[in-house]
Amino acid sequence: MVIVDGSVGEGGGQILRTSLALSLCLGIPFKITNIRAHRKKPGLRRQHLVCVHAAAQIGKAKVQGAKPGHQELTFIPADIAPGNYHFDIGTAGSTTLVLQTILPALMIAKGPSTLILEGGTHNPFAPPFDFMQRVFIPVINSMGPKINAQLERPGYYPKGGGRLNIKIQPAKKLRTFHINQRGEISECRANAIVAGLPRHIAERELGVIEQKLGWNKKCLRVIEQPADIGPGNIVCIEIKSKHITEIFTGFGKKGVRAEDVAKIAANAATRYLEAGVPVGKYLADQLLLPLALSGSGSFTTLKPTLHTRTNSDVIKFFLDINININQTSNDVWCISTSF
Ligand code: AMP
Repeated sequence: MVIVDGSVGEGGGQILRTSLALSLCLGIPFKITNIRAHRKKPGLRRQHLVCVHAAAQIGKAKVQGAKPGHQELTFIPADIAPGNYHFDIGTAGSTTLVLQTILPALMIAKGPSTLILEGGTHNPFAPPFDFMQRVFIPVINSMGPKINAQLERPGYYPKGGGRLNIKIQPAKKLRTFHINQRGEISECRANAIVAGLPRHIAERELGVIEQKLGWNKKCLRVIEQPADIGPGNIVCIEIKSKHITEIFTGFGKKGVRAEDVAKIAANAATRYLEAGVPVGKYLADQLLLPLALSGSGSFTTLKPTLHTRTNSDVIKFFLDINININQTSNDVWCISTSF
């Protein structure tokens, strides 16, 4: 049994999710201690418990300690059971973080699966649906699986109520990847979405993006969604290049000015464009696990975050693999895996 110390590195929920995903994929039981030790309210919270329950169902696993507030959990998986699953996270718990937990197992399972996930689809501190659909999943599809993700209804924090529909055709073996060049940029766009909030919020956000990135108005779009979905506001900057698409998101929040929401996304996009790398900082921590499962591969990214370094440590608890993180130049780093 692998013993995972949940207080290593950034000490958050990612350590649990990565452990669950790898435990399912490799059929290795684990015990995790000090769960979310570095968070204000440590231990398992509702959304982590949904990840545990979803993983347990898919891996026919025996679980001990899955209770709110608990800091210790034992997870003993059996076989991966592909099939049709429906997980309702309730309120605005993140659907994409549940997907992050169970997708690796289902994409190498013995048969196809469908997932309906209900809850939040665009939550701060989690990958927004657009990022999963147009950034993360295309890389996974290039490895062999065929995953189709559709947003039936968005769910914003704190109301939630969103719904995703995912179809997964697994691959017998994952192909590795080398994503070290971005290639020519083919399309840039920014969408500012308002649900049940005034249109001027989105217009002001796009104004900041126009000014900071110097983009033509044709690339900027206001999307108004029905009031009953809201309140919700996000701004998504999407940069499509020959070898990869990246998305940078600002999440609207009560009390935060629209201009400041847009600045977060615009600054992230500027840093990415200036560094000339293909993989942004969030995609980097999310690609590490599939890359390690596929064998020896590499990608070029920005300076790794504590999330990425922690994910690397957790992966090495489960897999006998080298993860090399090397600086190439100022804000350019190469991450590679090898046996
Ligand atoms: P944690 O903070 O440990 O719960 O992990 C959060 C997860 O959400 C990580 O996999 C991050 O890469 C991902 N994430 C957070 N914010 C974003 C964002 N704006 N875009 C894409 N992924 C994100």
